[in-house]
Amino acid sequence: MEASKFNRRKFITRTTLGTLGAGLASAGSFAAGNADTIKEPPSIREYRKFGDTGFLVSDFSCGAPGNEAVLRALLERGVNLIDTGETYMNGNSERIIGRVLQDFDRSKIFINSKLYTEKEFPPKKEVLERSYQAMERLQTDYIDCMQIHSAEDSRILKDEAFHSAMEQLKKEGRVRHVGVSCHGNNWAYDTEESLDTILMSAIEDGRFDVILLAYNFANAGIAEKILEACDKRGIATMIMKSNPVHIFNIFEGRMTKLADEGKEADAFLQAYYDKYKLMEEQAGTFFAKYGISAGGDLKKAASRYVLSNPLAHTTLWDFQNFDEVDNMLQLSGQKLTANDKSVLNGFSKHLGHTICRIGCNDCEAACPHHFPVNKILRYNYYFSVKKQEKRAMTKYASLNLNKPPELCLDCEGYCEQACRYGVWTRPLLAAARKNLEMI
Ligand code: SF4
Ligand code: SF4
Repeated sequence: MEASKFNRRKFITRTTLGTLGAGLASAGSFAAGNADTIKEPPSIREYRKFGDTGFLVSDFSCGAPGNEAVLRALLERGVNLIDTGETYMNGNSERIIGRVLQDFDRSKIFINSKLYTEKEFPPKKEVLERSYQAMERLQTDYIDCMQIHSAEDSRILKDEAFHSAMEQLKKEGRVRHVGVSCHGNNWAYDTEESLDTILMSAIEDGRFDVILLAYNFANAGIAEKILEACDKRGIATMIMKSNPVHIFNIFEGRMTKLADEGKEADAFLQAYYDKYKLMEEQAGTFFAKYGISAGGDLKKAASRYVLSNPLAHTTLWDFQNFDEVDNMLQLSGQKLTANDKSVLNGFSKHLGHTICRIGCNDCEAACPHHFPVNKILRYNYYFSVKKQEKRAMTKYASLNLNKPPELCLDCEGYCEQACRYGVWTRPLLAAARKNLEMI
């Protein structure tokens, strides 16, 4: 696919330089030792029909890139879809892609970009202008797919300025497909919709060729219905949040601090701490049973779960360094194993209440204060799972919450009672606040 054919020695040199220059993790096993003993680095082993777009897409694709060397390595190893958006790193994610694209065959790479608006798009002229600016940053004449970024209700799917601009750009050959991404709605301020109702509306609308959604073993009930509907309409699917797992440990530190200060925990904290200790014991037994010592096995099992579904055409991954490139690409083409199933079932049973599925929104609908539970837990996901601390904190700050978190302490926990998955929203919210406000 690449203009400069993949060259292992060149890649190793780049990898080493990248490690020194950018402080990235080492290139792992294949970069060590002499060239004769170097193993072939993992690369993409499976390509899939990408809906009716006419493109064959790699099963793993690149989430908004933040590093040129890592992006080059991915393209050299067969990744052929790059996701980005005007808001990522203030346009610098698109600029990185633009610089790297110059060394590759543009026609073999699918660029997915996005335009964001909170309520409605500005007039068509401005949508066009923002699209041309994205192309300038990307140093390309066309964008394969332009998406509405994070649609928060189904009204935005009908936005005339957006669609009229996209129609013109398609006629000009500057945009080839139109899409939408969604994390559920912003119920706290608006209508009562959720991830599935918004995306089902997008599918019904008929103007969207590509849909980007969260899909993982924990939200399969919601996401797989959407994937099946996309399949019937020939809509291409991109997957985010394929690994929802993080183990939260918010209590130990707080309890220790209180003990050091000679204080007692309040009833709220004590009740959760007791539940947490029980959960920890159950989880410990589960981890010991499957010999799981770190998150790695879970991450692999979670990835294989998504890769095993042919209706999930490509899985985005935010590759942070060369170790991740190796670790994730070695999973390309793999399918769920019997052991993976046991691991994921065990995880759901013992720790399912620590994962917000993001987007179903029962919690927010039940909150008397319209606390944006879904968004806060999503930003905490960016912080805790994706390790994008700055991005998570900036997004959290932009919520301008003027409701004190103490509201949750005096509340009956309506959000928890309403959550169809029994997610422990209150301690998760406490953890999120601790992370996102750095308290
Ligand atoms: S807390 Fe529960 S209801 Fe709310 S978004 Fe998460 S999984 Fe859905
Ligand atoms: S604990 Fe109560 S106030 Fe806090 S988010 Fe849940 S329902 Fe709302």
